[in-house]
Amino acid sequence: MQYWCEYAWLGGDTAAAGVLVGERDGVITEVAAGVACPAGAIRLAGLTLPGLANAHSHAFHRALRGRTEVGSGTFWTWRTQMYELAATLTPERYHRLATAAYGEMVLAGVTCVGEFHYLHHGPDGVQYADPQAMDEALVAAANDAGVRLTLLDTCYLHGGVGTSLNEVQRRFADADADRWAARVEEVHRRFASASVKVGAALHSVRAVAPHEMASVGSWAERHGAPVHAHVSEQVAENEQCIAVHGCSPTQLLAEQGVLGPRFTAVHGTHLDDHDIELLGHAGATVCLCPTTERDLADGIGPAGRMRDGGIALALGSDSHAVIDLFEEARAVELDERLATQRRGHHPAPVLLGAATDAGHRCLGWADAGRLAVGHTADLVSLRLDTVRTAGAPAEALLETAVFAATAADVHHVVVGGDVVVRDGRHARIDVAAALAAAVNEVWT
Ligand SMILES: [Zn+2]
Repeated sequence: MQYWCEYAWLGGDTAAAGVLVGERDGVITEVAAGVACPAGAIRLAGLTLPGLANAHSHAFHRALRGRTEVGSGTFWTWRTQMYELAATLTPERYHRLATAAYGEMVLAGVTCVGEFHYLHHGPDGVQYADPQAMDEALVAAANDAGVRLTLLDTCYLHGGVGTSLNEVQRRFADADADRWAARVEEVHRRFASASVKVGAALHSVRAVAPHEMASVGSWAERHGAPVHAHVSEQVAENEQCIAVHGCSPTQLLAEQGVLGPRFTAVHGTHLDDHDIELLGHAGATVCLCPTTERDLADGIGPAGRMRDGGIALALGSDSHAVIDLFEEARAVELDERLATQRRGHHPAPVLLGAATDAGHRCLGWADAGRLAVGHTADLVSLRLDTVRTAGAPAEALLETAVFAATAADVHHVVVGGDVVVRDGRHARIDVAAALAAAVNEVWT
């Protein structure tokens, strides 16, 4: 199959015109710029980008959208509402909800999602007859929606620093770190495939004690798998960690040997200079989730200092208050402008790199996220004739994509050589109807 792109981003500072992308068995076999559209090629209008990676997702949070915007509060009051939702989910309901949420992602140009999955067990923490029923639901949802998945099976053992699990949290927990490792080993054996990777996560320093962290790190080491953790999302999390352990969450993770090139710190909103130094020296990634961080009033992550410190940045929609990687990308720059009263910290190609190449890398897909020979054939085409994008100059198409386009401008999505979105519609799912049904179901 050949695709001819009116414009395509091949990794430089501007988009190239007239780009031919050849594909066989889901892999890019040729890329040539400045050529006319050959007979038989599929013509992709507008700007074509590599597939977008949503590096941090909790699929079930999609059902909170709008409902948590009434009244006031903090992350912690929001969490109470999130726990009410978590208590309602069964594997069947979660399959339907995640299929719809992943469908929304694919329509937004997401070709790979990192699912930070901790809803492992039934009510009161009782295992399902099939202990991997929830994992199976998520894997099936990703397959049904046509998105590649990194299932980050999350170790969650405590209710907070030095506190026990509450009623809902018992659904998240295994008996101990060894039991977590045995379960994730089985998840890996059953579900790892050409379109699914299984990685590890430790929920946070709140949920995993120092002596338990090594189990997560060593499982990931054995499998060469990514390992993610929520890190310093909250000031209170830092304060608790310092009070109990005498150091920051990042320092604690470093001391337990968890940091490294396969490690991703999610959020990093309240990292200090030493934390940034540790993560930079480790070759780690930080996954920023700006639309969630602003929704939850978490704060603004120090993205400029992170990049200066050698940390790779990835992006995630996390709680899915919105699902739009262009909005996440521009928020990194625009939030930094508000914090510094200065413009121009993160150029558009850098932000697109976070949404594509870096995101895929931190999810374990080093051969995706670029329009290059040998890479997975993921193509995301944006219209340049909508009310948001019309009139964009050819030399500023990347800036238009990052600072003006939205998920609604995505019109064609190819995932591993399969056309999953055509003319703005999902090939297999009526996503809006599926979302309405699945969200209503969990609240009734
Ligand atoms: Zn999260």
